[in-house]
Amino acid sequence: MSKDIKIVMTGDRPTGRLHLGHFVGSIQNRVKLQDEAEQSFYMIADLQALTDNANNPEKVSSNVLEVALDNLACGVDPKKTIMFVQSKIPEIAELTVLFLNLVTLARLKRNPTVKDEMRQKGFGENVPAGFLAYPVSQAADILFCKSNLIPVGEDQLPVIEQVNEIVDDFNRFYGKTFDRVKHLVGDTPRLLGIDGNVKMSKSLNNGIYLSDSFEEISKKVMSMYTDPKHIHVKDKGEVKGNVVFSYLDIFDPNKEEVAELKTQYKKGGLGDVIIKKRLIGVLENIIGPIRKKREELAKNPKEVMKILEEGTNQAQKIAQETMVEVRKALKINYF
Ligand code: ATP
Ligand code: MG
Repeated sequence: MSKDIKIVMTGDRPTGRLHLGHFVGSIQNRVKLQDEAEQSFYMIADLQALTDNANNPEKVSSNVLEVALDNLACGVDPKKTIMFVQSKIPEIAELTVLFLNLVTLARLKRNPTVKDEMRQKGFGENVPAGFLAYPVSQAADILFCKSNLIPVGEDQLPVIEQVNEIVDDFNRFYGKTFDRVKHLVGDTPRLLGIDGNVKMSKSLNNGIYLSDSFEEISKKVMSMYTDPKHIHVKDKGEVKGNVVFSYLDIFDPNKEEVAELKTQYKKGGLGDVIIKKRLIGVLENIIGPIRKKREELAKNPKEVMKILEEGTNQAQKIAQETMVEVRKALKINYF
């Protein structure tokens, strides 16, 4: 890793359990980078989750533990990564308020990620102001700890671009305080949903979860879209746009065998059930150990909350130091 990339920051919205999209999009890099970085942070973005769940705070609070369990089960290690909860650090909210002055309404409305998500959620003009402004609060999440490398899925790239605009404006108006940040997308920048949608997403309910049982995985894979014209085993089949093959390409470690299966499928003579059973096995090999570790950790929820509490205390100290510097830069450090 380049020597100026030292501080890694990443997080999840506690809107549901985490799925394979999170695993390949961000979690794998979190686990890898925590050994390489000078410091790693993992944040549970409960305030951000509330921006589109204001009427359902219970959904957000109950998922804090769930996403913590998912990350711990995948190998995020609290000895190496400071794991914390966003709402417990009011300094982040203070920084958000200051950053909001650096961003126009027009720019917020233009953000492609926010636009996509607004369409998906059917907000139209009635979008909550907090939701429209979530990239600004994300800038505060990233910058309060002076992080400079952000492992994210591809859907978040426009948000990172907006963070850098805030960095530039802040430094120009108030003196050099923050560094520009870099993103890091995983090997699979955007995993598609089991329904063939362009993104596996908690909100779209089209995911295979890291806590799914073998039976749930099997049911989901058996329902996957293949090639609608491939009715009989002897029929020629299409590999492109076939969700089962897309997943095999990503998750099956034996690329040669997958290539042979594709050739056979295209020629005809290979049934959907065979490739689906293979995929079930491949996914169980990945999810099985995660599920097992997760079940162990879930027996002690208090211990997990303790990890978050300790991480939050550590992160808050850093936030306080940054805010001293920021208030000084803005000349609002009156007394
Ligand atoms: P929500 O629908 O509530 O926004 P989500 O499924 O988009 O949930 P987030 O908590 O917003 O999940 O995302 C956490 C991280 O996982 C982000 O870095 C995001 O880019 C990444 N991520 C989410 N879904 C995918 C996916 N299908 N492929 C790759 N990365 C993903
Ligand atoms: Mg999201």
